[in-house]
Amino acid sequence: MKPVNLSDLLPNALDRRHVLKSAGMGAALGLSGTGVMSVQASPPGPQEAMGHGSGTPPGPDVPTRLSGRPEPRKTDAPDQPDRRLGWAVVGLGAFAQSRIIPAFSDAEHSRLRGLVSGSPDKLSRLGAAHGISSDHRYDYESFDRIAEDEAIDIVYIVTPNALHADLAVRAFEAGKHVMCEKPMATTSEECQRMIDASERANRKLMIGYRAHFEPHNVKAKEMLEAGDLGRLDFITSDHHRHLNPDDARDHWRMRKALSGGGSLPDIGIYSLNGALYFLDESPIALAAQIHSPSGDDRFAEVEDVCSVQLRFPSGAVANISSSYSSDTKRIQLFGEKAVATLDPATAYQNNRLMVADKEGQTKISTSETSDTQFAAEIDHMSEAVREGTPIRTPGEMGLRDVRLIEAIYESARTGHWVNLHPDGRMK
Ligand code: NDP
Repeated sequence: MKPVNLSDLLPNALDRRHVLKSAGMGAALGLSGTGVMSVQASPPGPQEAMGHGSGTPPGPDVPTRLSGRPEPRKTDAPDQPDRRLGWAVVGLGAFAQSRIIPAFSDAEHSRLRGLVSGSPDKLSRLGAAHGISSDHRYDYESFDRIAEDEAIDIVYIVTPNALHADLAVRAFEAGKHVMCEKPMATTSEECQRMIDASERANRKLMIGYRAHFEPHNVKAKEMLEAGDLGRLDFITSDHHRHLNPDDARDHWRMRKALSGGGSLPDIGIYSLNGALYFLDESPIALAAQIHSPSGDDRFAEVEDVCSVQLRFPSGAVANISSSYSSDTKRIQLFGEKAVATLDPATAYQNNRLMVADKEGQTKISTSETSDTQFAAEIDHMSEAVREGTPIRTPGEMGLRDVRLIEAIYESARTGHWVNLHPDGRMK
């Protein structure tokens, strides 16, 4: 395959950022000012031109270049700092420090203005590093005083899963909007409590499903909606990571009271939410199995492997999986015209989208920067709050997914298929 620059695929290739923004594709492709997208499109080689030697035309409907609906952007320039919405990050652990806090430097409508932590050392160290004065630093006891902090519009909860609900309710009662990491909470009752508090406070609630803002996932979704892949009959979605008992961030993941479960709510939720994102429908039934190797202390309370089959109203089926024993982040969309493979689909960086025709010939292979996904989701929330527009990944989506997780555990426990309502509740 010959590497092709994105500018080769766009008309009037002027300044790349300008072209993408004016075409409304900047957000969809997630390019930052210096972002470089390397696109590799297979040229129509002699074999393809001859129909793979089989006499079959090379599937004219399978695209060889990226296309799709542009995503409208409201502004052409980043907001001045004093116009940006103020955010406070709650729980300054591995993910907050490595991805969320750094993302504010790429955001255009959002600004980090507050920190909440149980660690005085983190508050002073990260506060100094990011220009957050002591007036905007809180511990979990003083957190409710954030109600008087006019610098803060939105609270981003990045703590262990079982703590999401209480913190979200407190943030709503303080009059703030809430972004909450996945999984939304450890039970559907807690999710509902969060939604009720958000409605009482008339404040927005967003779940941090960053894949909905990740350029390759967005592109695959656009191709699906444009009909480039044809009818979608089958999806596989597999998310696995190693659980390391020596790593502090994995300690609470081994405790069910803090995590709510094992690989399923932690990373299997990407498999589940990804399948539903691409199919755009809720399952009518599922059957699941879970497995943990005996004698492994990591799995005394939570599961290692989870494998689920799902049936959808359209007739489509999905196989999704998760585990704590390998490293895979892959989604495959088996359309009637073409197969799209996201591999990796949900890494922090260097995700990849490949599209092949039914004969397995790769038509598109593209990998560009993916780390724009974090700023994109933060800015989406800020814009939704400011403009009063809908959230792409709202609390109701988080609730549906937690209900489905409960159904998955129920199926694994009973060994039977579980029938489902469209909102994810078990029948
Ligand atoms: P960490 O353990 O690294 O961080 C969690 C932080 O929460 C801690 O550092 C601590 O911060 C705070 N905390 C408060 N109470 C507790 C407690 N009882 N036990 C442990 N920590 C506590 O976890 P991660 O950063 O990996 O995960 C945090 C959340 O983010 C989870 O919900 C996880 O699912 C989600 N996540 C999402 C990802 C994504 O891609 N969207 C990726 C990784 C995680 P402090 O000391 O400041 O109080």
